Amino acid sequence: MAVKVLRRRELTFWEELYIPQIVSGLKVTSGHFFRNLFLHTAHRLGLLKHLRASVTFQYPEEPRPLATRFRSRHRLTVRDEGTPRCVGCMLCETVCPAKCITIVAGEHPDPNVEKYPVRFDIDLGVCVYCGYCVEVCPEDAIRMDTGILDVAAYSREEMKLDIHELMDPGLRKPVADCSLKFPHECRLHGGQMKGDWKERGSSCHHAAGRWPRRSLGQA
Ligand code: SF4
Ligand code: SF4
Repeated sequence: MAVKVLRRRELTFWEELYIPQIVSGLKVTSGHFFRNLFLHTAHRLGLLKHLRASVTFQYPEEPRPLATRFRSRHRLTVRDEGTPRCVGCMLCETVCPAKCITIVAGEHPDPNVEKYPVRFDIDLGVCVYCGYCVEVCPEDAIRMDTGILDVAAYSREEMKLDIHELMDPGLRKPVADCSLKFPHECRLHGGQMKGDWKERGSSCHHAAGRWPRRSLGQA
């Protein structure tokens, strides 16, 4: 097989100097600097308000406003009486391309509601934030509108959200207790909520930290 040798183009004299490229880069940077300086000064004087100038957000003290369509951390929506809207149909678990949703459905004591999620976990360490679970849900039971972005943890286990964290989006591990109005009662294992349930009647309170939430405004 014939081999075609491609020779790298030699740099010209001016390219070898690098000075024109440096000047060209400085021209772009200076252009942005002086444009923003001029526009911000004009805005202070009440002029040229229709022209936008660049703004630096002092993150994390000053978080950037999020678009209303932004997909942030998941939550499970609740009915008026505080029980989850989820009917355990498994559509979201089935459609999830990352296979990071785990649902165990149980018979609901209310005959008008066929099932409920006995267990509902999402592994955020695997989730790709595609939003398919939200789109496919027939009950509007899962949303990605919590405004929680900076999800970080020290272990993979902490990245797994259980039903407590999904129904109370601000809740942060370790979940020490449960206040869900639900036809079950949570069980604690070694001070940690393990997400298994038994009979009706729990009214304890969360004793965990909270995730920082942001309002979804206009980008
Ligand atoms: S956002 Fe996508 S990857 Fe994440 S849980 Fe939903 S369907 Fe799965
Ligand atoms: S969240 Fe929606 S799609 Fe997923 S199991 Fe519940 S009702 Fe079905």
